[in-house]
Amino acid sequence: MEKMTLVKNLAKKIICAAPLSVELSGNFKLLFELFSPSDKIIQDWVLRQTDFFSENDWEEIQLIKLKKILIHAGENVSYWQKLFKEINFNPETFKDFSQLQKISPITRAEIKKNPIEEFTAENISRWRFREAITSGSTGEPLKFFQDLRDNLRREVNTFHELRYAGASYRDHIAVLGMESHHDLNNFGRRFGSAEWGDDKFRQSVIYPYLKLKPATLIANGSDLRRFLFLTRKEAPDVIFKTLMYRGEHIRESERDNISRFFKCPIFTNYGSRECSLLGIECEYHKLHLAPWMNYFEIVSDDGKAVPDGQEGNAVVTFFENFVVPFIRYKIGDKAAINSELCFCGRKSKIIAFSGRESDFIKFPDSSKSLSILDLARRIDENYYNEIRQYQFELRSEKLIVFRYIPNADLTETEKKRLSGLLEEALECQFHVVLEETAAINPSAGGKTQILIRNL
Ligand SMILES: [Zn+2]
Repeated sequence: MEKMTLVKNLAKKIICAAPLSVELSGNFKLLFELFSPSDKIIQDWVLRQTDFFSENDWEEIQLIKLKKILIHAGENVSYWQKLFKEINFNPETFKDFSQLQKISPITRAEIKKNPIEEFTAENISRWRFREAITSGSTGEPLKFFQDLRDNLRREVNTFHELRYAGASYRDHIAVLGMESHHDLNNFGRRFGSAEWGDDKFRQSVIYPYLKLKPATLIANGSDLRRFLFLTRKEAPDVIFKTLMYRGEHIRESERDNISRFFKCPIFTNYGSRECSLLGIECEYHKLHLAPWMNYFEIVSDDGKAVPDGQEGNAVVTFFENFVVPFIRYKIGDKAAINSELCFCGRKSKIIAFSGRESDFIKFPDSSKSLSILDLARRIDENYYNEIRQYQFELRSEKLIVFRYIPNADLTETEKKRLSGLLEEALECQFHVVLEETAAINPSAGGKTQILIRNL
């Protein structure tokens, strides 16, 4: 018994601190690179201990981690420094979750009103910065910096995610696409988007690889569906051990069908570019929060706390980005916290999250369709400087209007390039019309739709 308490306390201490490789390397990138492989082993050991943490353990950890990021932001990030002064909030005296209510939730649009430097800590060495752009599920691309400290955690979280699903990093693993998910670089075998989309490559490389032994397949939601559809037709004898997807949501009924057809379980996780891992699905198919990564709240539209079981806006304070701290950040999803305990025995909270369902644009002349989040990603990656917000409107079976608010006027050449990019992504099956506008209004539900249909 005593030994267990000792182990638990040690794990708690480590989880509350920065990863050891960050702590020990100071300003030296080389030291970080030297320490991080063994640090990953330590952090992985710690996460395995968290399966035995009680609700009180988690609260204790979250208070410590919250206080750390609040103090850091108040001292080193000019936006938070000014705001805390304005609202008379002193992070040094923080000791109760309810004190957080003083800070109003902030949206992506509000962050975008200021230069990102306002949100960037001045005391963190540049080598920890990793530039990232969110795939705007609300059509508002945001460029910011991730912290390498979080990237180390992302990788370790992936081990944990596999364990929750009853899989292992030792499995025969195939990763499709997801080029921007660096945490998957060291797992199994990666097949790029262009590779798995190619008929010959699938036949000559991917299917033979999958036939070696049952594999754990990891992809984003829409790619997984498409790939499984192809596999069913082209290689019906392929057997999977586990299917895992991220990003886009797959409906419950479709998940059941997939799971039944391939005779294997299917799992997802919940995360965001800005706030990393938010939830992991366990073997009982419940989505557990990740309390070592963030403090997750559900609030109403006017910012008040919502009781357990009721749906509201997800608001996240992320512990692991010290470069650009996200504090009470409205990630743009609706969710509800469920206070029930899960049969798997873990005491972390469970959430109900209806998911970011990706809408699809169906091509008129073929059976293909394109995920709107895929299309949004291409706009985000190429036009985050030029375009502040955008929306697609499907006006007829073959006509798409791309409405956008520019940051500065686009030249004729730039407009041509933008049309070209859209037409190419839509395989020239649609006529694309650009429409510059001053405002894009949210729909009745309050959320700005990235795709509307006016057929
Ligand atoms: Zn569970």
